[in-house]
Amino acid sequence: MSRERVVVAGAGMAAGRLVEELVRRGALGGGAGSGGGALDLTLVGAEPAPPYNRILLSSVLAGRHRLAEVGLRSRPWYADQDVRLITGVRAEAVDRHRRLLRLVGGTSLPYDRLVLATGASPVLPALRGAVDATGTLHPAVLTLRNLDDCDRLMSLLPTARTAVVVGGSLLGLEAARALAEQGRRVDVVHAGAHLLHDHLDELAGTVLRELVEGLGIGVHTGFPAVGVRLEGDRLVGVRLADGFTLAADLVILACGVRPAVRLAHGAGLAVATGIVVDDQLRCADAATGALDPLVHALGDCAEHRGRVTGHVWPAWEQAGVLAAVLAGHPARYAGSRPVVRLRAAGIDVATVGDSAAAGADVSTVEMANPLRGSYKRLVLRGHRLVGGVLIGDVASAAALTVALDRPGLPVDRAGLLGMTGTGGSPQPALDVAALPDTARVCVCNAVSAGAIRAAARPGRSLREVAAATRATTGCGTCHDTVAALIATGRTAEVGPCAVNVAPPTRDRYGSTTPPTYRQLA
Ligand SMILES: Cc1cc2nc3c(=O)[nH]c(=O)nc-3n(C[C@H](O)[C@H](O)[C@H](O)COP(=O)(O)OP(=O)(O)OC[C@H]3O[C@@H](n4cnc5c(N)ncnc54)[C@H](O)[C@@H]3O)c2cc1C
Repeated sequence: MSRERVVVAGAGMAAGRLVEELVRRGALGGGAGSGGGALDLTLVGAEPAPPYNRILLSSVLAGRHRLAEVGLRSRPWYADQDVRLITGVRAEAVDRHRRLLRLVGGTSLPYDRLVLATGASPVLPALRGAVDATGTLHPAVLTLRNLDDCDRLMSLLPTARTAVVVGGSLLGLEAARALAEQGRRVDVVHAGAHLLHDHLDELAGTVLRELVEGLGIGVHTGFPAVGVRLEGDRLVGVRLADGFTLAADLVILACGVRPAVRLAHGAGLAVATGIVVDDQLRCADAATGALDPLVHALGDCAEHRGRVTGHVWPAWEQAGVLAAVLAGHPARYAGSRPVVRLRAAGIDVATVGDSAAAGADVSTVEMANPLRGSYKRLVLRGHRLVGGVLIGDVASAAALTVALDRPGLPVDRAGLLGMTGTGGSPQPALDVAALPDTARVCVCNAVSAGAIRAAARPGRSLREVAAATRATTGCGTCHDTVAALIATGRTAEVGPCAVNVAPPTRDRYGSTTPPTYRQLA
């Protein structure tokens, strides 16, 4: 029987994980001792490299990783799995009628199933002077999305003393911190009223600003960048809407990303913000709305139940579901829990769940200490924890994530905020022994504390535990927690659960809806 031809357009983090998941299910032809799976897989990527860990690019910029270290799997590995990997070639059109993916250069690949994994592209703000008559960005004005961007940024660093990052987004702050770590004078320009205004309220934004400024990074909010200043061809500054000019030898644009939907549009597939998919990640016809069961989309380019994500862990959860679907097993994607982590040395931010929830039944518990650069907030709907924000001390992020899953509100709310006792003295460090087995420690790969404990057999190194569980292999923010869990697992019994889960109780105010209060910790 001939194998089903699956062609994937886009060879980024979602596509790479899809291959891993198909290999794990024995659905492909290769692998030692394999009798040959049911699928014949081809990956087509516009970038020259096989799928790599894009998340590490800001660490490369900071000098903490080398460019060569971001690779995930080698070309021979793909060949061993019987995967045809075509890189450096863009797919330009889909002919759904003939079931062909057309590539730039004239090649057409026939498919039985097509997967769109085209990711997202940086949004470019209108900056006067930054683009020449041919529509090309000035060579010292860059985005940070791929290896090529990173390579070019690194090549500019030796001659750049000052840099401006346009966009106080997660990526913008990561990039700014990376450049500051490299000893450059950096300013962040953010048009919103405060940093990360999509994720944080004003008080949290103020605390974050002070944290960032404390690291020597200038922060300018409330006015957009409107142009660049050139002396001859040389970039010398960035102009703000209030008339101020910031010195800049280098500009990084970090104004968010937009799903890459061109292929889907051209193919007549339904596109809203992203490519619309159902729970089996199937696309739909734009004109009729009818499902096209032969075309799927996942990752940053996909829109599921009205949401585009822009993060790696939903892309990887979708890859697991799609691998099952392609292998003929029942599976559905029901959405991913929102968890946001900022990965920058000295700037710790975590938001979980719906931290911006609003409504008559929503209340918040909020503690801020701008002097210590710390801010914590729980968002409650009745007696359920629906969201949380941690800035500065994010040690209780895993406990918050666990509490989101549970009915009822933990009695120890101060504990949830990483404080001990009702007075709220700060906990010195995360007590990993107290983490329940269900706590999701590695958000990117959905690895629980229990799975790490189970994998941490005597003599196993962190690298081996990472290989067995995938923990730490995404954004890497869980590295220290995983290392501590391995160390604790070897020396001690797992302690009792610190997140004290109890059925709903009336709080001490006699109200079923806790009041909002602010306290300087
Ligand atoms: C510097 C940086 C830091 C990040 N940090 C985090 C983080 O800490 N946590 C987190 O969750 N997420 C983070 N992200 C986001 C994360 O990288 C993305 O969510 C993830 O890469 C999405 O995977 P994807 O495969 O959908 O898209 P991508 O990884 O972007 O892959 C899409 C690929 O498709 C290719 N492509 C597009 N169109 C075509 C075409 N027509 N033909 C062929 N190929 C095509 C693109 O060139 C690209 O290689 C970060 C991103 C960056 C850039």
